[in-house]
Amino acid sequence: MLYRRMRLKFQPAPKAIYFEQNATPAEWGSWHWQLRRSLKSRADFERVFDLASEESAAFSGSGELQAFQIRTTPYYASLASTTEPLDPIRLIFMPRKEELSLGVQDQLDPLGEKKNNPAPRLIHRYPDRVLFLVTDFCSVYCRYCTRKHFTGGEQAFAREDDYTKALQYISAHPEIREVILSGGDPLTLSDDVLAKVLTDIRRIDHVEIIRIGSRMPVVNPMRITLELAALLRSVKPVYMMTHFNHPRELTAEAAEGLERLVDHGVPIFNQMVLLNGVNNDPRIVQALSRRLLYLRVKPYYMFQCDPSQGTDHLRTSIDESLEIQRALWGTLSGLAMPTYSVDIPDGGGKTTLVPDFELRDQRTGTVESGITRVYRGWDGVQAEYKSPPLERRRTPLDAEVYSDEWATLLRR
Ligand code: SF4
Repeated sequence: MLYRRMRLKFQPAPKAIYFEQNATPAEWGSWHWQLRRSLKSRADFERVFDLASEESAAFSGSGELQAFQIRTTPYYASLASTTEPLDPIRLIFMPRKEELSLGVQDQLDPLGEKKNNPAPRLIHRYPDRVLFLVTDFCSVYCRYCTRKHFTGGEQAFAREDDYTKALQYISAHPEIREVILSGGDPLTLSDDVLAKVLTDIRRIDHVEIIRIGSRMPVVNPMRITLELAALLRSVKPVYMMTHFNHPRELTAEAAEGLERLVDHGVPIFNQMVLLNGVNNDPRIVQALSRRLLYLRVKPYYMFQCDPSQGTDHLRTSIDESLEIQRALWGTLSGLAMPTYSVDIPDGGGKTTLVPDFELRDQRTGTVESGITRVYRGWDGVQAEYKSPPLERRRTPLDAEVYSDEWATLLRR
């Protein structure tokens, strides 16, 4: 397999004894088997894990908040320690009693998606793109999920009339250039259903880009079959947005799936979420980013965890997140650096936070004469940048070199 020739090593998932006894290699390697044999009940989890009292209490569901769905594939469960409750992977899928209590900010819909829901299953927040929630089903229910108001509601694929209305809305809005398939997890849909969705969207002339947001490459990488990769290539351009949070999630199986997608011309971007006890250390983010980049996956966003219900114990403070980002600044290349971003609650949209290297109290000059700005870089080097005066500004569109076709394109 390709990953064996690589400089960085990607180890196969360390199947727990329980799974090895119950699965043939062919079953283990089947994404359908992984879905069928998912762990869902307390009994399922108790067969594999020594449940701590904080975990055991969460299964009872008695608290101020309603318990979120519980589910994991055997593959993803096998990446976690069976004895250590604070194992980072285990914290992602194992419920804990803290999630049943109200926190400092608990919102069922932290991104205000219900306010921007013009058609069934569609979230239209930014003018040029729309989120299409094609299913509410996931093969693992992450404890920090931001869309608990929708995910895991047992509706699965959209009803036919909802699906038609969603497509009609996209068709009627020529400003929509990108459709982002989300959910739930779109890659839990069968190839046939996915092919229908992708080709229906591709038929809409003004849609240029299709994105798929999925945790399947992380939690059920067997889903990335040759057939799926070929399907995505056939409706290009399709971008894959993955969601690796920890370098231990990058197993040989995951590496193989990612390689297959990239080799079929599917660009991959990773969106991680900073999580308390999981990855809130610059060394973890560095290792994750470097390994992703090596697999030709661009580390894209490092999100502040949204104040979704029951996630207080998993959220980092903004100050801590900024510290992590500052520590990464000098040590990761621009290619490997994820952008730290906070989603402003109630539908405010994303805001990017970057370390501020300017010494503002040393700024001199005026806009008209030019401003001298002073910066101190990540390792202490300090220097001035003399900004030319604004009055020298000339806009590139003043030049008479654009044909009518270009003028139309630039206005769009
Ligand atoms: S895969 Fe995504 S939508 Fe599903 S539970 Fe995890 S974070 Fe939520």
